[in-house]
Amino acid sequence: LNRRLAEFGTTIFAEMSALALSTGAINLGQGFPDTDGPEEVREAAVRALRDGRGNQYPPGPGIPELRTAVAAHQQRRYGLSFDPDAEVLVTAGATEAIAASLLALLEPGDEVIAFEPYYDSYAACIAMAGGRRVPVTLRPDEGAGRFRLDLDELRDAVTDRTRLLLINTPHNPTGTVLTRAELSAIAELAVERDLLVVTDEVYEHLVFDDAEHVPLATFPGMRERTVTIGSAGKTYSFTGWKVGWVTAAPELVTAVRSAKQYLTYVSAGPFQYAVAEALALPESYFSAFRDDMRAKRDLLSAGLEEAGFRVFRPSGTYFVTTDIRPLGETDGFAFCRGLPERAGVVAIPNAVFYDHREEGAPFVRFAFCKRTEVLQEAAKRLGAAF
Ligand code: PMP
Ligand code: GLN
Repeated sequence: LNRRLAEFGTTIFAEMSALALSTGAINLGQGFPDTDGPEEVREAAVRALRDGRGNQYPPGPGIPELRTAVAAHQQRRYGLSFDPDAEVLVTAGATEAIAASLLALLEPGDEVIAFEPYYDSYAACIAMAGGRRVPVTLRPDEGAGRFRLDLDELRDAVTDRTRLLLINTPHNPTGTVLTRAELSAIAELAVERDLLVVTDEVYEHLVFDDAEHVPLATFPGMRERTVTIGSAGKTYSFTGWKVGWVTAAPELVTAVRSAKQYLTYVSAGPFQYAVAEALALPESYFSAFRDDMRAKRDLLSAGLEEAGFRVFRPSGTYFVTTDIRPLGETDGFAFCRGLPERAGVVAIPNAVFYDHREEGAPFVRFAFCKRTEVLQEAAKRLGAAF
């Protein structure tokens, strides 16, 4: 492994899913649903396969039907208008969108500001692109019960070498949804310092209670400098299909497409046809999905609280971050390694998502995108173990 990647071994998700398999523990580690997405969307994929649509290389930017559906979704939901031919790119999941964006937009040595804890591929992709990551730590606000961005710290992190802000809202793993005021301040900073923004909005449909997802691209001065990333994996519960997308101004999409061409060339054809249909599902699909996940959040959060964890009830995503200190524990790594034996449950130590590991040491993430009976059993086991 070269020096750029030396610090990145096996991803924690693979490690913890393997631990779940080998111990038979309930896997609340890696974020994937244990039920598949809508039947009609699966049928659409089967039809495409059977009819020979997408079985050979589809167009590099993605099939026109999907690009049109992505543009229509952004218009309908957010009033953002994108030209499907010039301003939309289909990628192999959000993961490739992140990689291609960073590879396309960074010069070696450029600084990238990302919130810490950050989704693990950010650090690896910044490294692959030769960039330097500059973490700004989200810290728990005990009163508000959420992890919060310190805007002064963000402003102070910008230097003459800063090229890009890498934003994620709703945020994995903390479940924080940035408020309109926070996003507005980020947008002002980006305009003032002439920064590019890559914003990972894969959990855009998983927002609960009073929280609202507002795309950064909707703020003044942002549309031309923002690469917005979405994914079918999270919204439609098909994480194995690896269909994601980018919406941005033409020059940015052209740049990201240049990198994408030499990563995967194209993304899987038949799934693109199916996702184009999924994006056109009525609003009732999204609200039912959200309501279901909210009930699951409440179920697991209550179980964790009863077991003695301090719970940061998330406003978005399908993850709940907990503090294990009330259990008399301080090291999330050791805690998660021992949890399968102790409680028959697998979770993720948030410390892996930090450069300042000590900041993340006592936090542990549980995924609640699982069947109700699985969450009930997990809650029961945790209640018995602690
Ligand atoms: N971004 C975030 C914040 C994620 O949690 C994930 C995990 N699914 C991804 C990107 C990757 O998405 P995909 O599976 O579409 O590659
Ligand atoms: N995004 C998922 C999570 O955060 C997992 C994706 C992956 O395994 N790379 O758990």
